[in-house]
Amino acid sequence: MRRLWVLALGVIPAAWLGCQGPAGGWDPQHLAPHAAALEAWPGQRLADARPYPALFRTGVALFLCRWATPATLRVSLPPDADAGERRVLERALAAWEASGLGLRFTPTDGPAELEIRFAAEPEDGRAVRSGDTVADCGWETGSALQEPGERVPAELRFASIVLQRANPDTLGRPVPLSDVELFGAALHEIGHALGFQGHVAGRRSVMTREVDQVRRTARRVWSGDAFRDPSLGALYAVPSGWVVGRRTLDPASAGRALALAERLEAADVRGPFARVGDRSARLWWAEGERPLALVALDWDAVVRGLRPLHWVPSTRAREWLLREAGEGGVAP
Ligand SMILES: [Zn+2]
Repeated sequence: MRRLWVLALGVIPAAWLGCQGPAGGWDPQHLAPHAAALEAWPGQRLADARPYPALFRTGVALFLCRWATPATLRVSLPPDADAGERRVLERALAAWEASGLGLRFTPTDGPAELEIRFAAEPEDGRAVRSGDTVADCGWETGSALQEPGERVPAELRFASIVLQRANPDTLGRPVPLSDVELFGAALHEIGHALGFQGHVAGRRSVMTREVDQVRRTARRVWSGDAFRDPSLGALYAVPSGWVVGRRTLDPASAGRALALAERLEAADVRGPFARVGDRSARLWWAEGERPLALVALDWDAVVRGLRPLHWVPSTRAREWLLREAGEGGVAP
């Protein structure tokens, strides 16, 4: 009881001040070496970002990943976008371009670093989010299992955004998005594609979960206000690959995960790449058409230290390892 009271005292003043603790689950003290650069972005909530994983022999490093800058990213716009939709997406890219991150975007019909597509059709009667984004961080084979120092030599390599053209109403019927609503959805999803995974707590960012707030920002920028997102600015003020924490591996899965990673390192495959989703994180290697992956479920809880880190190889990875191990090898 006494302990609860002490905890409550610790929490209440923060609530009074309208402050919220960092939502990312890692200690913002890791950003201390960049304090001076971060001062350029008052109100930033970089510590709400969900970090990427890098596997090494005794654990994982949690790190932030972004595009190398300055850079011009090639963007493929949806081939089925009409002129109006194209204009909306180009305006969203232009807003990010002018926001001070050091990135420019150039549309292309060929290979692209950033791919934007529309979902085939609104999903039937299901609450759909306005979009879905993956942003893959990559680094060089051969360095994957070395324990990183301050940074993993990693940068974003590819991102893909799928946008909905409509949102279901309360009865599940699709209602087409207005230009400004599509603009807001694109601003938010591009933010994920630029490396900010997870969401900013509160409302002071286009990376908030609150759709109404995203649309408010979208309306302001659409009508000519300058756009700057402090939390993305902060991400780009810190070197890509910056390590913000470490977690140990669950001994039950460590052997298998390391065996797979070691063989993949030695084999002629591209990787590793890391991807962070809403619930899970994955490390993967590109072999032929399909990835070989290690998946960590409940990634948020792992980052918070509430769950041991347990890597599960994908079915294809398990088959690959079995084949590689050969007859005399040890089955995973
Ligand atoms: Zn989001």
